Formats: sequence, structure tokens, C-alpha cells
Amino acid sequence: SSTAIIIGAGHAGGELAIALRNEGWEGRILLLGEEAHLPYHRPPLSKAYLAGSVEKSSLSIRPQMAYDKANVEFIGSVRVSRIDRANQRLELADGSQLAYDKLAIATGGRPRPLSVPNAAVAERCANLHYLRTLDDVEQIRAQLAPGKRLAIVGGGYIGLEVAASAIAQGLQVTVLEALPRVLQRVTAAELSAYYERKHREAGVDIRTGVQVADLEVTGDTVTAVLCADGSRLAADLVVVGIGLLANTELAAEAGLQVDNGILVDEHAQTSDPHIYAAGDCTNHPNALLGRRLRLESVPNALEQSRVAAANMAGKAKTYASVPWFWSDQYELKLKMVGLAEGFERLVLRGDPATDSFSAFYLKGDKVLAADTVNRPQDFIAAKRLVAEGIAVTDAQLADDSRPLKELLP
Ligand code: FAD
Repeated sequence: SSTAIIIGAGHAGGELAIALRNEGWEGRILLLGEEAHLPYHRPPLSKAYLAGSVEKSSLSIRPQMAYDKANVEFIGSVRVSRIDRANQRLELADGSQLAYDKLAIATGGRPRPLSVPNAAVAERCANLHYLRTLDDVEQIRAQLAPGKRLAIVGGGYIGLEVAASAIAQGLQVTVLEALPRVLQRVTAAELSAYYERKHREAGVDIRTGVQVADLEVTGDTVTAVLCADGSRLAADLVVVGIGLLANTELAAEAGLQVDNGILVDEHAQTSDPHIYAAGDCTNHPNALLGRRLRLESVPNALEQSRVAAANMAGKAKTYASVPWFWSDQYELKLKMVGLAEGFERLVLRGDPATDSFSAFYLKGDKVLAADTVNRPQDFIAAKRLVAEGIAVTDAQLADDSRPLKELLP
């Protein structure tokens, strides 16, 4: 019978394997992962798990039993080093080979490394951290102690979530952001200003417009972050969160089309009909936006893995979903939907001073995107406003005395 192999046992890979069985795939299903762990949730790594408020066991997406029941063979700590498309075979780093009939690539991404003169030396220091894996966060957790000086490079979601967790544990926290404001790539200036204020009120030293020039290394320890303006930030530990590089090398070396992610169609199929791809490593067409994009989010990993699984099993399923994302910092639950690019106006609903408000990004009478803070009801309604292109007025959105769902058909 046929063998399906999935490369990468992250959120996309693990869910793809289970979905493939549920879709009726009768042959072997092999789930190969470079990490030792069963697929786990990464979002808590910078949130509840870093803060110490959830157990490690709660991170697993499913227990071993679930893979056994679906007859999915999970093999951890193995790295696929080559895809031989002509012979439909994989080469593993240990030299062994595996034949596939259908293949799925769900290799995710790795942290973008800091590009400074001392980067290579600093990476050998135990107190310089990136945050992508459970093993990364175990090392960070072991070094979080009250009074320690933590320098965070990057004021994106991961940097800010780490800041919130660490300040709550009594560290002295500084965030260095190169752009003029935090979260600049993903939110409006109003939201950035709000989050900068919340972090400063909590005691985090937020420094924007600061370029990191180098890391000062003394012996086998990073001792400071050196900035382009000549300032020196002494630190006991450094966490770098400056973005992700998609793991596309395997696909590119195999001659698959790659352009900021492995190119897939609306069926999650690559340029080789036997090979599918899902999750952070892909670049897919989005019907709603009318263009291709690469997303780094759990909802995307989930949806794409289901689409890939259905099509691998011979069923036609099309990817059509609105991007959404969330971030937890302090008591603030931020949920975002849509993509704001090209928006003309921002409309606020509710007062940021109450820590419960939403911001809508409009073009004409359509909502392109929304950021909601501690407003689950607004989020649910906003998802439909965006997905269905429902016409609204600024006044309707801003009127906090009436529930948003009244605007839905
Ligand atoms: P990954 O989870 O990266 O899994 C890919 C797996 O493939 C890895 O385990 C890797 O080791 C393995 N692999 C790679 N190459 C090979 C190879 N050659 N051979 C074998 N195995 C290989 N998303 C949200 O929606 N909301 C959040 O709040 C949020 N917070 C986050 C916080 C943190 C700290 C991080 C790191 C991510 C967060 N994300 C969040 C993003 C989310 O976790 C990712 O979008 C999601 O994990 C993507 O899943 P994936 O399976 O595509 O990739």
C-alpha cells in the first residue's frame, strides 16, 4: 500500500498526519521531526509556559495515544537532508533512505539570526537566546531570576511577550527595537503607542529607534548589547526575537518553486503533484486578498494542514480563510483578524484607557482588518465583517453602546 511521509512534526505536520488518516488514507503515515518532542503548541513558549503558569505536559497538541490510534508513526530526532523527487525517496541525515508515494513538507522556520560582528562567538554563549523551540525556552526559564538584567532585541510579539513574562518575575527588562515603534509591521501607531505605554507602566524599559551594532562577549558570556548610537546596555541574558526564516532549503534543493516560502496552490500542492506543503514554510494564494502571502500563525498551520491532508487523500478541499492571530501580554488579550495593508482610516471602538477596545482598519466602507484588546465579542463580529466584506460606517463601528453583531446580516 502507499506510504505518506510528512517532514516536520510541528503544528502543521502533526495535524496533517492525523487529518490524513481521518480523510481515509489507508497506507503508512510517517511523521518525521527533527525535535525529540511530539508536536507541541509554540504560542505558550513566550506566554504562559515562560511565565511558569502552565505545565510542560499541557504543551503537547495530542498525547502519544492519539497518534497510535490513528496509526501515525512519529519518529523524532531525525533530520531529512534531501528529497530525491525522481525516485520519490528521502535521505535522512543518518544516511538511511525512505520511499514515499505522497510527501508533505511542514518544516516551519527558524529564528532570524542577529547579524552583528560577534554573532557567531555570541551564539556559543549560554546566555544568548533565540526562542522557537521547547528546548530554547527551557534554557531561558532556567536563567530567569529576580533582579537579573534581561535585554530583549526586537519589539515584535515574541519580544514583548517575553518582556511581559520576565518583568512579572522580577527581572530588569529592556526592549531594543530598531524601528520607531514596537509592533510597527503589524499594527497601527495607536496600538503601538498603547502597548509601549502598558509595558512602561509595568516597568519595562522600551527603547525604539535603536540599532543593535554588536554584542559584547567576555569569556563565554554575553555581557552587553552595543548600540549604534554608542550606548552600551549591560545584560545578564539576552533574548533575540527579530523574525523568522522559513525552512525552504530542502524544497529549493529538490527544485520545487520557492519564493518567500514554498509555493503552493489553493490545494496546498507544490509544483510537484506528489508533494504538498503546509504551515509557516509555505507561500499560498489568498482569495480574499487576491495575492500570495506567507503567514506565521497557528490558524494558518491548522487550516493548511487540513487542506493538504484532504487533497493527499484524493478529496478536493480548497484553502480559503481569513488570517488571524493573537498575542497575550499582561492581562491583555489581543486578537487580530485580516491584513491592514492599504487601509485608509483607523476607527476606534471603546477607550484604550479601559484596556478594552478595538481598532478597525477601513478602506472605503469595508473593514480590512481589526485589532481587538480584551474584546472577544468584537473579534467574532470583526472576523465576519472582514471575511464577508460587509459595508459599514465609521459611526456604526465607533458606537460602543450597540453590539457589533447588529451589523452582521
Ligand atoms: P513549526 O512549528 O516550526 O514546525 C516545524 C517543525 O519541522 C519543527 O519542529 C522543525 O524542527 C521540523 N523540521 C524542520 N526541518 C526539518 C527537517 N529537515 N527534517 C525534520 N524535521 C524538520 N502563532 C499564533 O497564531 N499565535 C501566537 O500567539 C503565537 N505565538 C508564538 C510564540 C512563539 C514563541 C513562537 C515561536 C511562535 C508563535 N506562533 C504563534 C507561531 C506558531 O507557533 C507557528 O505559526 C506554528 O508553530 C507553525 O507551525 P509549523 O508546523 O508550520 O512550523
